[in-house]
Amino acid sequence: MSQQSQSEEGGAEMLLRAQLEAFLLKPEQRIVSEIAGLLERYAGGERHHLPRELFEAAVAQSPLAISITDLKANILYCNDSFTEVTGYTVEEISGENESILSYKSTPKSVYHEMWQKLSNKESWKGMLVNRRKNGERYIAEVLIAPVLDGNAEVSHYLGIHRDSSEMHTLEQRVVNQKALIESVVDSAPDAIVVLDQHYKVVLDNHAYKKLVAELRSGEPAAIFLQTLSEDDANFSTLLQQQQSFSDRIVECRLGSARTQRWFNCSGVWFNERSTQADDFFVDNEVPYLMLTVNEITTLKRQQEEIKHNAMRALMAEESLNVSVRETLAAASYKLQEPLNLLNAAVAMMERRSANGDQHSEKESLLPLLKQIREQGSESLELLQQIMPLEQEEYAQVNLNEITHQVLQLATPRLLAEGIVLSWQPVSELTGIMGNARLLRVLLRHLIDNAIEAIIDAAPAQREIEISTADSGDWVQITLCDSGNGIDSNLHYKVFEPFYTTKGGRHTGMGLPMAQQAINAHAGTIEIDSSVSQGCCIKLRLPKTRNQ
Ligand code: FAD
Repeated sequence: MSQQSQSEEGGAEMLLRAQLEAFLLKPEQRIVSEIAGLLERYAGGERHHLPRELFEAAVAQSPLAISITDLKANILYCNDSFTEVTGYTVEEISGENESILSYKSTPKSVYHEMWQKLSNKESWKGMLVNRRKNGERYIAEVLIAPVLDGNAEVSHYLGIHRDSSEMHTLEQRVVNQKALIESVVDSAPDAIVVLDQHYKVVLDNHAYKKLVAELRSGEPAAIFLQTLSEDDANFSTLLQQQQSFSDRIVECRLGSARTQRWFNCSGVWFNERSTQADDFFVDNEVPYLMLTVNEITTLKRQQEEIKHNAMRALMAEESLNVSVRETLAAASYKLQEPLNLLNAAVAMMERRSANGDQHSEKESLLPLLKQIREQGSESLELLQQIMPLEQEEYAQVNLNEITHQVLQLATPRLLAEGIVLSWQPVSELTGIMGNARLLRVLLRHLIDNAIEAIIDAAPAQREIEISTADSGDWVQITLCDSGNGIDSNLHYKVFEPFYTTKGGRHTGMGLPMAQQAINAHAGTIEIDSSVSQGCCIKLRLPKTRNQ
């Protein structure tokens, strides 16, 4: 310590002592805090009373590169760390401008902004590209602060910097990796979204953004997860337990068009180390869900189309079988009539010849009649033999599903005829033991009848209404049309073979065959006589086959 500073300190000590003595003489004039302050200062406890050497040593030994310059940035002092970072010793650098460190790749605008701040007596902080004495470049994180004199004027500049190259490399590597991951994720055809534990989106790709724009119904990820949870209670448990899942199909109608779309969702949970300062020494992990969504609407439509076509083929085959059966049954029925007459004639002639009533002409007819009868019976037997067998395929069937399938096939015809369909299935319908093929043909036949009735009547309101109901031991289908209806005295007759109200190609075997199909299921079919307009047909089928 210099002589001047020693004498200054001695003077301050004397002043303090005098102030203390004055206080002790007149204690009421001072307050307690002032006494404490005086005592503390007397004891040398205040910071600015720390020895100056300490400050010098702290600067000299600081792990940060420190330099002090004049107003033109000419270096007056630098510490050991400065030498370590830049490669210049104090002797080498003293008197040099700080610009000696500049690699000249730092844009002029950065320096301009730096000096602008310094001119305003403000400190500046930023990154510069520096060059060491050996020519090596490094990224310097620099803080420059003006040092003010007693008149609040800038007397010097204090420069503090450190080599941040390693940190910069790491940061760039993270940025590059993030960019790489983002470009890979972005180029994926599937929509990918990362959600935090509160299901908030933290990262998404192009395909997901496209989905958001298309659907315009809120956050698609939230909608998919909610729909999956609603459809399957186990799914929400699975989510809560942060378990991964795959190939979960979501069906939804979103967007302005509200078209039906299908999405295949898979989710993988992963954990990230917490970045919170509180968790620095703790192994706290934050969970994230990566949801991958793949739209499968086209695939689903193709599958539906294949199923639809297969169903159409199946029904066409079954309809063909039914009409062959219908025709053969009609032919058999028609053949049976003359055979019955022949039988009666033969029986009568045989009776007469036994009674001795002999007429040579009639006698000669008898063998001929017998021969015709034999041939007729053989033909009838042949017809019955070639009649296609009804396939006995009884299994659990859902009438809502079967009706829906048949309606899908009938839609083009309904549209072509301008008929409005009102399909009202009951939400929960018990399955029944039934022959799905037979029931489909039966329903198809009744719907075709209804369409034809509307075409014939040409009413103003062209409407078919189909509903299902679950009542006790039975399930019920009601099919009403807005045609002319069936006269009440024909309600039973229409179920008789060959009875038809239409001529032409109608054999009048449709409703009898429908009756037969219903009988095979131990059910009932009836025409509702309570309706005043159109025709309502009610089918009732037992839930169990032994009703
Ligand atoms: P220069 O000709 O030095 O200056 C470029 C522009 O800066 C000029 O056009 C002018 O607008 C402005 N400028 C320069 N000097 C002054 C001034 N005294 N007052 C007002 N404006 C001025 N630079 C580094 O590259 N790396 C460092 O580590 C670094 N540390 C520094 C530490 C301190 C304490 C200070 C005060 C400056 C430091 N500088 C540092 C800045 C350095 O002094 C130069 O300004 C800079 O390197 C640009 O040098 P140059 O030769 O390209 O241009």
